[in-house]
Amino acid sequence: MRVVLATGNPGKLQELQAMLEPLGVEVVPLSQFTRVAVPETGLTFVENALIKARHASQLTKLPAIADDSGLEVDALQGAPGIYSARYAGEHASDEDNLRKLLAALSGRKPAERTARYCCALVYMRWEHDPFPLISQASWEGRITDVPRGTGGFGYDPIFELSQRSVTVAELPAAEKNQLSHRGQALRGLVAQLTRGVQ
Ligand code: IMP
Repeated sequence: MRVVLATGNPGKLQELQAMLEPLGVEVVPLSQFTRVAVPETGLTFVENALIKARHASQLTKLPAIADDSGLEVDALQGAPGIYSARYAGEHASDEDNLRKLLAALSGRKPAERTARYCCALVYMRWEHDPFPLISQASWEGRITDVPRGTGGFGYDPIFELSQRSVTVAELPAAEKNQLSHRGQALRGLVAQLTRGVQ
């Protein structure tokens, strides 16, 4: 079976291929079909993942998988949330976004810096699938005062695990994949697919 993945991110493609290949599923990136991204007009991660999967399935006539993820900060009522990639503006860099978040939390005590990474993953069999598979997961932590570490991407240098005083940028990549919101959501989706939930 072939499934289209609604992302241009090579890291995500590899991760999904590795987990789905043993099930006889071939994952192909949507970028092989189009470069046009669909507007993410939802107000939640899961809505945006549904929009992306529906668009991919409509275009390719294949079953589709899409994800949407971001960082939720309690003291900011969930911001940057679904706007994590563009928190500091439409073409903001990871560095710009991270600096803006540190400024927004300036002066806050450690107990007021709690946050979590969130991920929604969706599998749709057809464009008008009325019963898509949905897997959501989160990863608890807190925002540091200063960036630490060189691994990962995005907010990883300022996201410290709730259980240990290390940032995600200080974790080996394999450990991040094991613990992360995306890794957990992916395992949840694979479990539903293998159980034959539909
Ligand atoms: P997307 O799901 O690839 O669109 O990611 C949305 C945005 O959320 C990214 O651009 C990052 O700013 C943030 N984000 C999501 N997952 C992670 C992560 O694992 N580490 C760091 N930032 C993340």
